[in-house]
Amino acid sequence: MASLSLKNVCKKYPNGFEAVKDFNLEVEDKEFIIFVGPSGCGKSTTLRMIAGLEEISSGELSIDGRVVNDVEPKDRDIAMVFQNYALYPHMTVFDNMAFGLKLRKVPKDEIKKKVEEAAKILDLEKLLDRKPKALSGGQRQRVAMGRAIVRNPKVFLMDEPLSNLDAKLRVQMRSEISALHHRLGATIIYVTHDQTEAMTLGTRIVVLKDGVIQQVDSPIKLYNEP
Ligand code: ADP
Ligand code: ADP
Repeated sequence: MASLSLKNVCKKYPNGFEAVKDFNLEVEDKEFIIFVGPSGCGKSTTLRMIAGLEEISSGELSIDGRVVNDVEPKDRDIAMVFQNYALYPHMTVFDNMAFGLKLRKVPKDEIKKKVEEAAKILDLEKLLDRKPKALSGGQRQRVAMGRAIVRNPKVFLMDEPLSNLDAKLRVQMRSEISALHHRLGATIIYVTHDQTEAMTLGTRIVVLKDGVIQQVDSPIKLYNEP
């Protein structure tokens, strides 16, 4: 279960630039929300505020009705998947996936069980001893997702997770993400530039421009209206 509420959320960077202005959005449990909009419109900033990686300047962010503005990232029950995967190059696939659990002092045998479960879901079982540089792009992307799902978070944030993959792999990973969404029953917020991704994955699409929400609609409404 995870609903999310953003009320009048603003981000003003230390240099005075207002990257996000009065962002209002109610996300229901298990929704797949897509953020679209031109480069620089505030998509990443908003995701980072939700993850707790960037301070909220004003406004209120709640998860399941609890205000989390001042809650540390590791205590937010949110996992983020980055465009560049952000894997640790010196660690094996296993250790990359286990990292967040170790940080949270999860017992070793439980970590092993969770990593093995995630590896099975993501078809990484045979690659657990490899370092990231010995993986294909698609495999790296799966490790990045594995690292997120081992924690069983209520909310997944994905910042252009497929944009570094070639077209064929993008299509494959798109269906994997869709299957994962159903399988985990997770609430997802997903940033993309790709209209097909937005249409096939999203339950609702949030269109941003200059830090302001322009429109929030279902894919059918958004893309089929004259
Ligand atoms: P998007 O993800 O939509 O491309 P971002 O959220 O990354 O956009 O950035 C939104 C705006 O905020 C951009 O104009 C960007 O230049 C600006 N910005 C991002 N980070 C900072 C920062 N640390 N200081 C000042 N401005 C920033
Ligand atoms: P893709 O075509 O999907 O980008 P690659 O050509 O990078 O994949 O790799 C093809 C296969 O070879 C993958 O299964 C990958 O795990 C394996 N592989 C790639 N580099 C190495 C390496 N340095 N050591 C071992 N296996 C590797």
